[in-house]
Formats: sequence, C-alpha cells, structure tokens
Amino acid sequence: MNLFRYNFAARMKKKKKITITVDGYSSCGKSTFAKAIASELDYLYIDSGAMYRAVTLYCLRRGYVSRGVADAGSVVSLLPEISITFLLNRETGFNETVLNGENVEREIRDRAVSDNVSAVSTIPEVRRKLVELQREIGAGGGIVMDGRDIGTVVFPEAELKIFMTATPEVRARRRYLELLGKGLPADYAAVEKNINDRDRIDSSREVSPLRRADDAVVLDNSNMTPAEQMVWFRKLYTQTLNGS
Ligand code: C5P
Repeated sequence: MNLFRYNFAARMKKKKKITITVDGYSSCGKSTFAKAIASELDYLYIDSGAMYRAVTLYCLRRGYVSRGVADAGSVVSLLPEISITFLLNRETGFNETVLNGENVEREIRDRAVSDNVSAVSTIPEVRRKLVELQREIGAGGGIVMDGRDIGTVVFPEAELKIFMTATPEVRARRRYLELLGKGLPADYAAVEKNINDRDRIDSSREVSPLRRADDAVVLDNSNMTPAEQMVWFRKLYTQTLNGS
C-alpha cells in the first residue's frame, strides 16, 4: 500500500459512514471497483447480482427457467423456500453467496446462470423480495452495493451514486479474459452475446430497468486502470463528504 493510499484510508475510516451505490452495464468491472472501495473504506460490500443469480440457480435446478425463458408463476411459488445469506471468506476478505445453507458462490457464475438470470430478474415478485433483503442489509449505512437499480430503487437516498459504463468491446474482452483466467471454458462470441442480451433485457424490462439515476456520477472506465479508477473515486468521495 503506498503512503497516499494509506493516509487516505486511515483518514476516511474515521468519517461518517454513508451509502454508496454502483450501478451499470454487465461486465463493466462494477464488482472489482465496488470491492476495492469497500475494502479501502472498511465498508460492507454486497453484490446484488449474486442474489438474482442465486434465485436463478434455484429455479434452474427445479426446471422453472431454461433457454432464457422463465415460468413466472412457478418461480413465484418457489420464493418462500429460498433463503439467501452471505458468508465471509476469511482468506479473500469478501462475502460469498449462500443459498439455503449451501455456498453457491462458484456455481452462480456458471454460464447456465448467466444465460437465464435476466429472465428471472424481470419478475416483479423476485425483485420485491430481493430489494427488501438488500434494504435490510444496508439499513445502517457503511455499505457499497452494486447492481442495476441500487441508486434508483433500492437506495434512492444514497449519498454517493456511481453509474459505470465501458464500450461493449472492452466489456466483452474483459469478461472473456476473466473466464480464461479462472480456468473456465470461454467462447468470445458467446460472451459478447450474453453481455448484449443481458443489457437489452435489463434496460428494457418494465420493473426497475437499468438506468442512470439523475444524481449518479458516470464513470466510463473503457481506458482506465483499476488504480486510476481509485484516484477518481477518492476525489469524488472527498467532495461528497465535504458537500461540494
Ligand atoms: O451483476 P451481475 O452481472 O452478476 O448481475 C446478473 C444479473 O442480475 C443482471 O444481468 C440482471 O439481470 C440482474 N440484476 C438485476 N438487478 C440488480 C443486480 C442484478 O436485475 N440490482
């Protein structure tokens, strides 16, 4: 850790804890960025997409969603059986997703889940249940949550809202390299299609579509390194706390 970063983190940990929302398109690096912010500020990080993915995994196992089409009535009837919690992985320092007592952190990143999650996420009852849970978790502030509707619907009163974007090519390439890096099977064309499909469904759905909150600050990180994004963030955070 360099000295500037250390001083910044030490000073900021003493400040009041606010709510920070990070929304944006698929594979913009939202979770990497949100995790870095949370660990620097000693805030809780919550990946709301993981919750939609966990519900989707449960529905996939029951056969209530496949090929991007969900049987909404059956999915809704399953909701009372679904419990989602998070478990801290002490090695990484980050939360992992637990579905009815089973750690599903790896499985929810599988292609089958990615291909079906947007269909499940359009169901209003699914959103209602997860938004309620997200609000409960974030009630005390001191949280960074990323997703699609966090600044618009979940925490419309959040003190700091960021909307992330990057060109579709950059996003597809990053996701492709990320999969390869994890040793997972990756097909560039399939990755690109999944990103485009999810963005289209997420932005055009009736309930809580993906859109920038009027008071969100845009971060286009197409040509930025993670370190540059943190420099950008520190300035924004300081300005927010100083009320300018
Ligand atoms: O963030 P991630 O890409 O893992 O999210 C997976 C999917 O979950 C998104 O494509 C979207 O359909 C859904 N989602 C959502 N609202 C959120 C977070 C995720 O609809 N707040």
